[in-house]
Amino acid sequence: LPPMRRKANPRFVFMGMRRCGKSSVQKVVVQKLPPADSLYLEPTYKVEHATMHGSFLHFESAEIPTQLPVLSPSYDHASIFSNIGAVIWIIDSQDEYFSSISELLRTAVFLAKNYPSINLDVFIHKTDGLSEEYKYDTFREVRQRVQDELSDVGYGHRSISYYQTSIFDHSIFEAMSKVVQKLLPQLPSLETLLTKLCATCRIQKAYLFDTVSKIYIATDASPTLLKDYEVCSDYVDVIVDIKQLYGWQEQVGAPSTSPPQQQEQQEEDEQRQNSSDAGLIGESIVTYDKTGDGYMFAREVNDSLSLICIMGKGSSVEKRVLIDYNVDVFVDAVVKIFQV
Ligand code: GDP
Repeated sequence: LPPMRRKANPRFVFMGMRRCGKSSVQKVVVQKLPPADSLYLEPTYKVEHATMHGSFLHFESAEIPTQLPVLSPSYDHASIFSNIGAVIWIIDSQDEYFSSISELLRTAVFLAKNYPSINLDVFIHKTDGLSEEYKYDTFREVRQRVQDELSDVGYGHRSISYYQTSIFDHSIFEAMSKVVQKLLPQLPSLETLLTKLCATCRIQKAYLFDTVSKIYIATDASPTLLKDYEVCSDYVDVIVDIKQLYGWQEQVGAPSTSPPQQQEQQEEDEQRQNSSDAGLIGESIVTYDKTGDGYMFAREVNDSLSLICIMGKGSSVEKRVLIDYNVDVFVDAVVKIFQV
């Protein structure tokens, strides 16, 4: 496949009170720090920048330490806000959060007045270890307070998105995926393509992943469940491992438990692969769950994007050639979208 000329370049800053988890989130998501190592992070005293290399998303982020008066008129706030797409405000839900809410309100009003095009996303963070009920109540309370107080000062129309996050599970990557997607002008086209692909090939859920960051840049229109994201996100690791072990071009079929008809499929695939022009037809990989009922389908779009699908009932493996064909068409369209 031709390399995609333009990569996505989302830029954002993390803000919030001291110890709310700004450095941890930035380092876990952008720099791949193991979450447990965040315990030993030093406090931040200056703006810390981070960039993700090697991924499709050319992430650029910065963490703003609390003591910097970035909203004051004398501060050169353009140096921070003039070039970014989103401010991510992090609230520590395991701590007293009323002071954080009043700072968030100040920031929301400041952005609405000075940088109205910047998205504001709120992470109600450190939800690990909290009961479901407490999590839900905190989420509702924070959202309600912020919306009420913004309405009181005349900014009720300012739209803010809220997410429950923790660096110790997949929720932080799910939330970051949604923050990033809002910054991609290609999102509506990608969603339409994925939704059509799902309908044509009886796919239950399809994600287009940035392989390195495991952030999904689009999914189809069906409801998004954290469980589906977790399964697919773990599957991205399978792809990376298989690629490292065998190289993608030599890989055919399932690496694990497979029903008998798949043997034939593998042979068919091998023939197809041998007869194809080297590298022009992308290779897909399927894996069955142990009952043989459902299966996963994965395909590399290019060296930094992967399509991962949970196949629905009725998408039998006999249709694999058709599915591969439709996915080829999808991949071509994705490449074109990013070339426009
Ligand atoms: P900052 O001052 O906002 O940059 O906060 P840090 O990133 O230094 O984090 C402060 C503390 O919160 C560290 O001990 C982290 O390990 C912890 N922390 C960060 N994220 C989470 C999370 O999702 N859950 C829990 N339980 N602790 C977290």
